[in-house]
Amino acid sequence: MIYNAQFRCFRGCPGDYSVFDVMYTCPHCGGLLEVHHDVDALKRRSPAAWMKLLEDRAGSTQWPYGSGVWGMKEWIMPNLRDKNIVSMFEGNSNLYWAERLGAQIGVPDLWVKLCGNSHTGSFKDLGMTVLVSVVKQMMADGRPIKAVACASTGDTSAALAAYAAAAGIPAVVFLPQNKVSRAQLIQPIANGAHVLALDTDFDGCMHIVKQMTQDNTLYLANSMNSLRIEGQKTVGIEIVRQFDWEVPDWIVMPVGNLGNISALYKGLNLLVDLGITTKLPRLVAAQAAKANPFYESFRNGFREKVRQQAQNTLASAIQIGDPVSYEKAVQAIQATDGIVEQATEHELANAAGLADRTGMYTCPHTAVALAVLFKLVNQGTIKSQDRVIVISTAHGLKFTSFKLRYHEDGLDDVEAQYANPPLLLPADANVVKEALAQRLHTN
Ligand SMILES: *Cc1c(COP(=O)(O)O)cnc(C)c1O
Ligand SMILES: [Zn+2]
Repeated sequence: MIYNAQFRCFRGCPGDYSVFDVMYTCPHCGGLLEVHHDVDALKRRSPAAWMKLLEDRAGSTQWPYGSGVWGMKEWIMPNLRDKNIVSMFEGNSNLYWAERLGAQIGVPDLWVKLCGNSHTGSFKDLGMTVLVSVVKQMMADGRPIKAVACASTGDTSAALAAYAAAAGIPAVVFLPQNKVSRAQLIQPIANGAHVLALDTDFDGCMHIVKQMTQDNTLYLANSMNSLRIEGQKTVGIEIVRQFDWEVPDWIVMPVGNLGNISALYKGLNLLVDLGITTKLPRLVAAQAAKANPFYESFRNGFREKVRQQAQNTLASAIQIGDPVSYEKAVQAIQATDGIVEQATEHELANAAGLADRTGMYTCPHTAVALAVLFKLVNQGTIKSQDRVIVISTAHGLKFTSFKLRYHEDGLDDVEAQYANPPLLLPADANVVKEALAQRLHTN
């Protein structure tokens, strides 16, 4: 069966463009593009047949369908030749039942989608497998692309560098100096990318990379490139499949540039279009109060897009003041009766502290989502019988210094309520015994 996907203007200007053309925005209005699928062709296969196909492929070793992204290849990038796919079998991430945390906050049906359990430790792998695969095919077909490039708050560059290295394509990454974690900085260095650390913030890096990629030999890999959205849209679909095709009540996620929430919505909406599901979950976009342009826009009823200079936040991957995918995210919130909330540094750090006490290892962005969840539960907006999914966007191991400083109670604007510093003791059995008795309340 022949399926088709093409670029179209998200705002609806006329025109279809090949996804293998070097273009990032609409030639008429300058707005974002999106990958448009031929839904009528996809609907010729029944919902039951699609569900079975996805279930059979999930987690298999059959190249490339064992990947959580490429198991849905017909819905993602049907015109790609399998031999050009650059995959690390991303996706199929664990849906963790947060039993103890859920019991503590009074929402027993609480789940955390661990998208950070992935090759480079964040959900960015899902989008990069699509983008780098398309670039590989473009190069194989003779397009004069010399390298892929991105601006990054740390995780995009790690994913791009890894997938580009796996494909043998040079990568150039633009990072804001001293604004990404050490783990995030060393990842693209280790993968052989050209790492340019600029004396600016993310928005400043974005501005530069846009200028650099006007030369079509340098291909832009930021999420304004809607190829990435196609891979990232698998998360919502995967969640629904993991619940035997039942749609949850809420999905809460941290947002910065707003690509990921747009992608989540696009995937969930495709399930409705194909007749596999009949409802959408309510989406909650969680922002750090120090970088909250989308929250401010929501507060003004989306009458106008708020742009700001983002302030330093522990949630460094969402420290963005001028989000690129704003219009798509507004649609995602409006169409799902969604909510945008914010969390302070104190709230996010302690949300991570509390969650970690129940066995998680929460990155600061996931912590923003958890802190916002706690607020909505306290307000009574999220109810105790609701099924709630929190999207964990990165692995906590990328943010060791955040954890260290928290447990030393050394973070600015944070009073660490769950700090658990090590006990420093002499190697004396009696002293150790006494200390343990105190800790375990056994005297
Ligand atoms: C990129 C990223 C986000 C934000 O995703 P957007 O698409 O920019 O909204 C959130 N958390 C982590 C860990 C990220 O790397
Ligand atoms: Zn347009």
